[in-house]
Amino acid sequence: MPTKKEREIIFNKFNGRCAYCGCELTKGWHVDELEPCIRNHRWDRQKRKFVHDGTYQHPERLNIDNQMPACASCNINKHSESLEGFRQLIAGFLKSLNRDSTQYKIAKRYGFIQEVEKPVVFYFETFN
Ligand SMILES: [Zn+2]
Repeated sequence: MPTKKEREIIFNKFNGRCAYCGCELTKGWHVDELEPCIRNHRWDRQKRKFVHDGTYQHPERLNIDNQMPACASCNINKHSESLEGFRQLIAGFLKSLNRDSTQYKIAKRYGFIQEVEKPVVFYFETFN
């Protein structure tokens, strides 16, 4: 867990914006590990679920150089993906919307949605 001071440094890396989508971070923003550290879990019989056992597969990645400010939605969707895995996940969203979402398909038919073909570029990749 980053200290309060470290959280402040991480928050300011991209002027208070999410490293991935670039939205303005609000209360409850997350600290994401760019290269995932992946929590180890153990079965808790009383809670009847897997719980974090306090260890990580890559504890060396829990450092401020690898930690990115992220909105909850980007952090939750990135989960324990690498950056390229996250990029591929987002690149596949249009395909799944066109396959699975009736609302999306109808909105598109009525002209509310225009799709564009472009690469997935993260905010921090354009930030200098
Ligand atoms: Zn975001």
